[in-house]
Amino acid sequence: MQSRPSKIVCVGRNYAAHAAELGNPLPERPMLFLKPPSAIVGPGEAIVVPAWAGRVDFEGELAVVIKGPAKGLREGNALDCVAGFTVLNDVSGRDMQKADGQWARAKGLDSWCPLLPSFVPVADHRALRLTTTVNGELRQQGSPEDWIFGLPFLLAYITQGMSLEAGDVVSTGTPEGVGPLKAGDVVRVEVPGVGVLENPVIAG
Ligand code: ZN
Repeated sequence: MQSRPSKIVCVGRNYAAHAAELGNPLPERPMLFLKPPSAIVGPGEAIVVPAWAGRVDFEGELAVVIKGPAKGLREGNALDCVAGFTVLNDVSGRDMQKADGQWARAKGLDSWCPLLPSFVPVADHRALRLTTTVNGELRQQGSPEDWIFGLPFLLAYITQGMSLEAGDVVSTGTPEGVGPLKAGDVVRVEVPGVGVLENPVIAG
């Protein structure tokens, strides 16, 4: 990724077990939301958790970087727009999600989008495995095999009416095992063959 993406499109509740752990029904169609590019931090940079934010969770996710302008993709050729895969932490303010009724603030505070600055082409993304640890303790394990909506369908669904541009990021949702972060924690999201995204957590 040479420059900041124009947008980060995220998919909520794309793992059935994660939807269940937060008491949510399974989605009938992809639940999309955006994170602002201003939330991005790189590996090693701090995730800032203000006291007023309430509960703030990590969400380890496999993400896709888009190769070039894409609109109206069909499932059959949708993967052609993928430049490669990367690792993202969709830091989420749970209390704000509930209180606000929409997620702009809960998903968009500064530093709440740790993202690797690079991506890796992958022949078969379905073979990838994701793990999240907090302070060395295993918290999440996931794989595209667990997704409710597969990547070709997601890319076709997103670009039905919304253009993706070169460098844009699509994050594919988080497995079960999310939990709150506190100052002093170190959260590490790893996808073997793609990369390791590790960030310390500090108080705001
Ligand atoms: Zn997420």
